[in-house]
Amino acid sequence: MTIYLDGHASTPLDPDVLEAMAPYFREIHGNPHSSEHSVGWQVGKAVDSALVDIAMCMGCDVDELVTTSGATEANNLALIGAMRANTDKRRRRILISPIEHKSVLACAEYGAMKLGYQIDQFLIDNSGFIDLEGSRALFGEDLLIVSSMAVNNEIGTIQPVGKIAAMARACGALTHCDAAQAPCALDVSSLVSEVDLLSLSGHKMYGPQGIGLLFGRREAWQGIEPMMVGGGQQGGRRPGTVPVALTVGLAASIVKMKLARESEEFERIRQMTKKLENGLRSVGVPIYVNGPILNDRHPGNLNVCFPGVQAADLLMALQPRVAASTGSACTSGVIESSYVLSAIGRTREEAGSAVRFGIGRFTTHEEIDEAIDCVASAVARLA
Ligand code: PMP
Repeated sequence: MTIYLDGHASTPLDPDVLEAMAPYFREIHGNPHSSEHSVGWQVGKAVDSALVDIAMCMGCDVDELVTTSGATEANNLALIGAMRANTDKRRRRILISPIEHKSVLACAEYGAMKLGYQIDQFLIDNSGFIDLEGSRALFGEDLLIVSSMAVNNEIGTIQPVGKIAAMARACGALTHCDAAQAPCALDVSSLVSEVDLLSLSGHKMYGPQGIGLLFGRREAWQGIEPMMVGGGQQGGRRPGTVPVALTVGLAASIVKMKLARESEEFERIRQMTKKLENGLRSVGVPIYVNGPILNDRHPGNLNVCFPGVQAADLLMALQPRVAASTGSACTSGVIESSYVLSAIGRTREEAGSAVRFGIGRFTTHEEIDEAIDCVASAVARLA
């Protein structure tokens, strides 16, 4: 069995979530928008009740939620939707951090290339934190939207979203948070109370792949142009049949995430991350950690440089026993250096030696021990 340490890419599906979804794959069918028969009412009720559970966990109202295919789509809807809807010619600037997920960076690029917006980026420090003091001059009345991720997907940095949002609101700008990596690190309902728009993804919280959410405060939705036209589902904000089983699964994963957080799951995971970090310190090369200290980071995130070792070689040497990843995107065989690591001051060479480990709900101490042994023997062969 492969030891799965890549939870930031995708968390395993929780068996309880699978169980909640199963009837809607197996025996209960129908379109939740069919209003003329009892089959439609039954699945419509399942979707409604799932959305009520989600809204309760997130501390918002059901009509502030729109389901999407994932966080990429939610980010597109929030950012491109806001830029397209905006008719206020004074607000032609958007502010993001340089270490946002590609889906946010690409939306910003689209806004600049196709819609004539100016994109500015926050300064960040060498742990990946947004330097709000140093970035003060970037706030102004010409901002349309300020977007910051809650938790970085490569180095786990937890951003001061509340402070950023307060400064943005003072300029009259919309605030968006890509919270895809947040559920396994903090209480998402506290973020919901701080921002206008917030993106989530099912498969980053032990839920199903293929579904996400965009929360939008009621007033904020007025400033979002839908990305698609269609049958008017979800008030036309995101038309298309709402997937019953996936929505039920998303709700089950959010409810379980809340219970897990309250039962100190994060602390248990943090202990395993610490154990992995300590164990890797004796693998034969002087490793160092990218990103903040563990208490200021996603509890299951460990991003480590192995000096003198190519991360791609190390990851390959670990197959099929340990699954971890680099922060690099590999396009057509050309490995791009991580822009996140480069933004926090790592050289290309350092970034090329960095491996991201993601520890999660189903990781065991025995797996951590075994992973350390596997890394040690791979490093011994490669260094
Ligand atoms: N934002 C962040 C911070 C992410 O980590 C990811 C997934 N890697 C996404 C957005 C995109 O999520 P999805 O796969 O649901 O489109």
